[in-house]
Amino acid sequence: MESTGYRLGNQVVLVHGAHASALYDLFDGRIQRVSSGLGKVLEGVDGHADVPGKYDASVLESLLRRLAERGFLERCQGNGGQRYSFDSKVPRFPPLRTLSFEIGSGTTAEDFGRILNFIADASRRFSLGSFAFLVGGSCDPAGGLEAVVASGLRHARFSICELWCASEAVGRFKALRSRLPHPGRVFVSEACDPVHGTIGVDEGGVRSVWDWDAGLLPSAMVCRADYYHLLGMYAECYGCLHFDRDWNVFPDVSEMDFFIGRPGAGVGLDDLLRDERLLGYWKVGKDRRDKCRDCELRYACPNPLSRRSRPDRLGSAPANCSYDLERGRW
Ligand code: SF4
Repeated sequence: MESTGYRLGNQVVLVHGAHASALYDLFDGRIQRVSSGLGKVLEGVDGHADVPGKYDASVLESLLRRLAERGFLERCQGNGGQRYSFDSKVPRFPPLRTLSFEIGSGTTAEDFGRILNFIADASRRFSLGSFAFLVGGSCDPAGGLEAVVASGLRHARFSICELWCASEAVGRFKALRSRLPHPGRVFVSEACDPVHGTIGVDEGGVRSVWDWDAGLLPSAMVCRADYYHLLGMYAECYGCLHFDRDWNVFPDVSEMDFFIGRPGAGVGLDDLLRDERLLGYWKVGKDRRDKCRDCELRYACPNPLSRRSRPDRLGSAPANCSYDLERGRW
């Protein structure tokens, strides 16, 4: 069979599940579920190698043309047919994506000073992606948080700041933005459930939003190159550390039973980041979880590890996912 001239481009990648495959358009953020049979055919399409000979050339050509018309395949130009692939050794992410801190009425000036030191240190040495605060309803920004956020934005010049607020505090913190040095890097959102830390940041789409008790929604899928790479290697919370009010450290704001440690004398950020349990937790990506490993949506699905069905088994299936892998229905 002659070469088709079409290929899966740098922007469109193919992911196989146990029952179906999916085309991820990483540029336009779209996912198209296709049958696993078609997935296998498309696997051979790179514009250079011939497509396996058992397929009828005209049928295949017309199928590929239709996929190309919808932007899922690109005409191969010259010899630019190199495929998009995981870099399995060097992740594209800084080792610290997010530091989050729970703030309450008992947070002292000394606590704020420590928080600022953590942000400055993480920014200087670990290219911190964002810093975040989980704030209770009675929290007043003037009580010290405003100064910490302002200083943090100056220290961490390439980071964003997220303020996850109880509903009563959202208005106060939205008003705070205009007083900050870089308001465009500050995202204020309502924490749906401040106890379990179910977080929603919808301004700019920094994080997905859904209630703790609600099931996973197809609209929650995040089809993006950086996320695709992250989920291909790690759990969703890779690079995140959460500190509660007593300085206990957890791998995720929604994983408050998985205690990692407590910074203090002789225990700094480096020690926390080397913790074997934390590293082990971060590695439990969807490829290592029941049900998810068979799902063609697994590199776009933000459902966190904390929502597993068995708290004592990290690799257990998600508790809140109704996706029918065989039928592709929710
Ligand atoms: S939770 Fe797992 S099975 Fe459900 S949609 Fe996400 S990756 Fe697929």
